[in-house]
Amino acid sequence: MLDREVSARSASGAQLRIRAAGFPARKTLEDFDFDAQPAVRQQIAALASGAFLTQARNIVLLGPPGTGKTHIATGLAVRACQAGHRVLFATATDWVTRLTDAHRQGHLPRELARLRRYGLIIIDEVGYLPFEQDAANLFFQLVSSRYEHASLILTSNLPFSGWGGVFGDQAVAAAMIDRIVHHADVLTMKGASYRLRGRGIDSLPSIRNTSETEQ
Ligand code: ADP
Ligand code: MG
Repeated sequence: MLDREVSARSASGAQLRIRAAGFPARKTLEDFDFDAQPAVRQQIAALASGAFLTQARNIVLLGPPGTGKTHIATGLAVRACQAGHRVLFATATDWVTRLTDAHRQGHLPRELARLRRYGLIIIDEVGYLPFEQDAANLFFQLVSSRYEHASLILTSNLPFSGWGGVFGDQAVAAAMIDRIVHHADVLTMKGASYRLRGRGIDSLPSIRNTSETEQ
């Protein structure tokens, strides 16, 4: 009886944490078709235990658009919510907005301290938009404040060598990557976009037109 109450309470706690995390879509590891990404199957199976969270390790998901980076980040984060960790998901651009606002109001240290109480933060889509130098510095502070204390999952369509361009400063990018990767698993997704699978991409108008003009 008591056991059942406790498990019901922890299940509703997990649901609350999942709702509070702000995921862009509900995705689970169970929904993921690992045949599309066989190279990362073992790595993800190992991470699914959640041991990375108690060790404050990070995860970096790299790869082209549509290869499942956000899906895997969400799936791992849902597991974290179920294991009792507080989670916050946002795009890199959203994080910059949030940190810039806190900085302008003179609350940055307080905001960083508040965020440290989250066991997992996801920074999605590093690389789609470049940052101002100020934003890069704020980002660096977020990464530093969590270093060896709480986990981050980052996703990017760019290899690390391209991050200097995103952060507008090679030195800031290098110092940040150094801290992120020191205790991290780096997963590289490959191949074509899952979004375009089975869409008959060679019959898309633009491609058909190209081949027609070639004929
Ligand atoms: P990325 O973040 O790498 O651009 P997403 O994770 O957003 O890609 O994936 C794009 C869409 O395709 C999502 O709806 C996602 O659930 C789905 N998807 C991608 N890869 C897989 C996969 N291997 N198995 C199942 N669904 C996938
Ligand atoms: Mg994505």
